[in-house]
Amino acid sequence: MSPPAVESQVQALTDLYNSIQNARHHPRDLLKTAIAPNPLPLTHPSLLLYSQQLKDIVHTLRSDAVQSALRAAKESEKADGQNIMNNVRRENRKRRPPSPESPQPYTVIERQSSSLFPVTKDDVAPLKSPELIEYIRQFNKTNSSYKLGIWQGTRSSTRDLKNPTILRFTIKDVLTAYLTVSYTSNDLVLLVESVTTFGPRERKLPHSQSDYSVYRMLSQEFGRMIHSDPQVGLQKFMTLLCSYENMFTMRCDKCQRVLCVEGHVAAVERVWNESDGQWQPRHVSC
Ligand SMILES: [Zn+2]
Repeated sequence: MSPPAVESQVQALTDLYNSIQNARHHPRDLLKTAIAPNPLPLTHPSLLLYSQQLKDIVHTLRSDAVQSALRAAKESEKADGQNIMNNVRRENRKRRPPSPESPQPYTVIERQSSSLFPVTKDDVAPLKSPELIEYIRQFNKTNSSYKLGIWQGTRSSTRDLKNPTILRFTIKDVLTAYLTVSYTSNDLVLLVESVTTFGPRERKLPHSQSDYSVYRMLSQEFGRMIHSDPQVGLQKFMTLLCSYENMFTMRCDKCQRVLCVEGHVAAVERVWNESDGQWQPRHVSC
């Protein structure tokens, strides 16, 4: 096979992949609109657009170009698929398109692409429960505005954490967050189960709710992030939490405003920016 043919096949599959990714955003947008006071009529333009997008995807998927690219990809994998799984995840996603005959790769792609957390070359192994105390000690040295601690659950031996454990994370004058983390006896990896956030001067229990809508929205936002990748390591999750240090002064990366036009709420959403290697603030409504 000549290189241009491979190129055009990769392009056909990349286009298909991108259109599927695009279509994936729609159900979430539709849900947002659906909980609005007036439910969507079935003739609503967004619904029609979504249904047209799905039709287009089916059409592209059935096209000769995509079908022959999928066949070629399968043959190529059969011929030499040895190291395919060792590639970086993002590479993997590009190079290993789903084959129509095998539903398994599709599941893998869905799980990886739904994660809103970055995959970087500096990724460390997810934190395990025996490493938590030392991690907290080191973490608190990084920035004097942050403070991380165990809210309850220490036993006499620090190696034997209560499971689940509640962590308390504060950013001075910005927020207090309670993280419920748990681990299984298999691998001891700490996973974040839920996060509730409060104003810096609120005195509330972790399982209650903030009196301020911005912190309730923030708690929901963390719920969405956890849902996108329940296996995300604690260290990576903490980079997300730390990105709220200037929560009330940072501009939204879409509309460039600090407070959104509707509701005058700060940018509580975070989107990972690959080129900057940073979490970018965004309004929920943007
Ligand atoms: Zn905005």
